[in-house]
Amino acid sequence: MPALYALKEVGFRYGLEWVLKGINLTIERGEILGIIGPNGSGKTSLLKILARQQRPVEGDVRFESTSLSAISFRGLAQRVGMVPQEHPVVFPYTVLEVVLMGRYPYLKGWAFESAEDHRIARASMERMGVERFSDRMFSELSGGEKQRVIIARALAQQPQILLLDEPATFLDLHHQSQIYSLLGELNRDEKMTIVVVSHDLNMASQLCRRLLLLKEGRIARLGTPWEVLTEKGIEEVYHCRTLIDSHPTTGKPRLTMVPD
Ligand code: ADP
Repeated sequence: MPALYALKEVGFRYGLEWVLKGINLTIERGEILGIIGPNGSGKTSLLKILARQQRPVEGDVRFESTSLSAISFRGLAQRVGMVPQEHPVVFPYTVLEVVLMGRYPYLKGWAFESAEDHRIARASMERMGVERFSDRMFSELSGGEKQRVIIARALAQQPQILLLDEPATFLDLHHQSQIYSLLGELNRDEKMTIVVVSHDLNMASQLCRRLLLLKEGRIARLGTPWEVLTEKGIEEVYHCRTLIDSHPTTGKPRLTMVPD
């Protein structure tokens, strides 16, 4: 079976400067891949390439051995859900309407959403604990509430692959732990493939089977959390000292900052 994604020598730039260069990466079905790296190292750009929101300037991206650019947006949206870092909703939509947008890839022509679409949207809202906001205006929610609604919208797409850009940024500790548990659950119980950009190296370490560490648009390291999260590796990329030991309950690497 071909890899889910296969990227070969992918390079990308917005202007003159390369933001990604020489990216070779395969993503297998059913894995949880974490993309980490300092600010500006190209994490979001890479995720946007996987979501087909940006096209690589050079190199090749295959999705199940078909060129990603040859797959229709609608076809891809039935398979791939994206939770972006920013979610500007400029029009006055209610939470339910925003979550129902996740059903658009399945609507035929200009048809309205069916009872089944509403059922799926409600179930997604329940899963994210936002059903009580259903009739509220999306624009009036807090950052963390908006984030959970956007994740509910992605779940309503019923994707096999979920791409998330810093999904826990606006969330308090309880909701952070809820979202990471949910990602683990979706992967374990529904075999969903998950690619998550995260600043939280400890969370990424606990959740992800593989980590990709970017440095200035290039892959600095790619491997298991123990292979990627080394004191030397982190110092080279982040220019700061850390202490890395084994998490007492999970046995995965745990990072502690060491002040200079
Ligand atoms: P990260 O997610 O690791 O912070 P990004 O992929 O967002 O990195 O950004 C990589 C580089 O591309 C940064 O230098 C950033 O300033 C630049 N960049 C990001 N988005 C744009 C854009 N829309 N136009 C021009 N430059 C951009």
